[in-house]
Amino acid sequence: MKLLINGEWRDAVSGKTFSVRNPATGEVIGEAPLGGEDDVRWAVEAAGEAFADWSARRPRDRAKVLFLAAEEVRRRNTDLAALLTAEQGKPIREAVDEINGFANILEYYHALSAGEQGEFMDLRGYGRTIVQRRPLGICGAIIPWNMPAIIMGWKIGPALTAGNTVVLKPATTAPLTCTKLAEILEDAGLPPGVLNIVTGSGETVGREIARDPAIRKVSFTGEAGTGRQVALDAAPALKRLTLELGGSDPMIVCDDADIPMAVEGVVRGRFYNCGQVCTAVKRLYVYESVADEFIRRLTSRVETIVVGNGMDRGVGMGPLNNRAGLERVMRQVDTARERGEGMIITGGRAPRGEEYERGLFFLPTLVAGLPHDSPLFSEEVFGPVLPIATVSGIDEAIERANHSRYGLGASVWTRSADVIARATEGLEAGIVWVNQHLKIPPEVPFGGTKESGIGRENGSRALEEYMEEKVVLIRL
Ligand code: NAD
Repeated sequence: MKLLINGEWRDAVSGKTFSVRNPATGEVIGEAPLGGEDDVRWAVEAAGEAFADWSARRPRDRAKVLFLAAEEVRRRNTDLAALLTAEQGKPIREAVDEINGFANILEYYHALSAGEQGEFMDLRGYGRTIVQRRPLGICGAIIPWNMPAIIMGWKIGPALTAGNTVVLKPATTAPLTCTKLAEILEDAGLPPGVLNIVTGSGETVGREIARDPAIRKVSFTGEAGTGRQVALDAAPALKRLTLELGGSDPMIVCDDADIPMAVEGVVRGRFYNCGQVCTAVKRLYVYESVADEFIRRLTSRVETIVVGNGMDRGVGMGPLNNRAGLERVMRQVDTARERGEGMIITGGRAPRGEEYERGLFFLPTLVAGLPHDSPLFSEEVFGPVLPIATVSGIDEAIERANHSRYGLGASVWTRSADVIARATEGLEAGIVWVNQHLKIPPEVPFGGTKESGIGRENGSRALEEYMEEKVVLIRL
């Protein structure tokens, strides 16, 4: 694999590479160039040169490239999904969904490109007024490893449709799928320099993208701490920022909830992608009156989840993506154990057996009876561990749910219109689901409140986040 700069596939200036490993087996599945500051500057130069032509094209001509790429991505879904599973670890059916999700996003922005690009106002006393929308210029995109294809789509879909050029940095543990997707975009007709991919570490490539003053906007997805650093690095050049950061989504199960449906909601909400989703269910609040029954049913169901290599048939949950993430989750569980907090009902350790020895596996884990101030509630747990607490009713549930520095997603499971009204009003989150959790269609604005981020991606207004308005006042 190479860097993509100005339409050419090149080695990094350093000449060095880093290995990408399959988290299920530990095997090296590819090498990626170890880019650095010089490579970013090179990519920025290419993106700057490409901007004049790309931004001058008609929006529908730009978006046509995305549409053609989406078709090809769908055609090659099987291979792309296998690559995604190999580097990221998720079960193959989740990878197939994610690759389709990337194509959906590109098609969505293709459809939006037909829409209005500006406004006209006839303001008495001022004259005829035109509000033009213009692309910003070069945009930086820094993405994590958990949903690399979807998050790449959320960034390049609106950025490229709006007429910007992009320098994108994938995560070091999942750069291969992003690079393949970029290759497909190139083959679909994306001109050289419009999308540049620089692989390498956050400390070098990521920070240079945040700092380089020629990059007018940075869209970052990752941890809140890293987001803070990106904001500081971007501050001197007063760049536009979109920060999609961590979450600790609460799920509230009321006494009138459809219990089997809510059990399935937890299984998908918490254990999808081995719990490594920003909007995963990370805290469960169950009404006391139904807690025993709910936890009993949930435990039986969770114990049926087959853990293993995402390529194997029947596997419901793969490994974690990287060792640092696995160690952090293990530490969080051990801390609860050492503090004598709560009870591990199931899981709490790596699965045993030869097939698990080389991979980064951890069992689906439920911890109940925790005090509300447990670190398992206050920290983001980015893995397959679910802390559970009971609540007396919706007022306490909302209060507990909001007691977090994060505010990304939240869900309430009930049949009561009154409870739905109170929860949707009271929960502090960018997205509130009722009787579901996790789904984010391309049409909806997505982002967090509080320390979960700044700005929104996805949906039609994401285009505006990649555009600047210029007003022209004409007195005739
Ligand atoms: P991370 O912050 O460690 O890394 C994200 C990206 O930033 C990687 O490409 C990394 O190399 C790069 N990076 C690291 N240090 C950097 C720096 N100083 N400057 C610039 N770039 C730097 O996050 P991660 O572990 O890859 O991802 C997991 C986190 O992402 C979780 O907190 C999760 O909740 C969050 N996330 C949020 C969303 C959302 O939309 N809100 C979506 C997915 C994941």
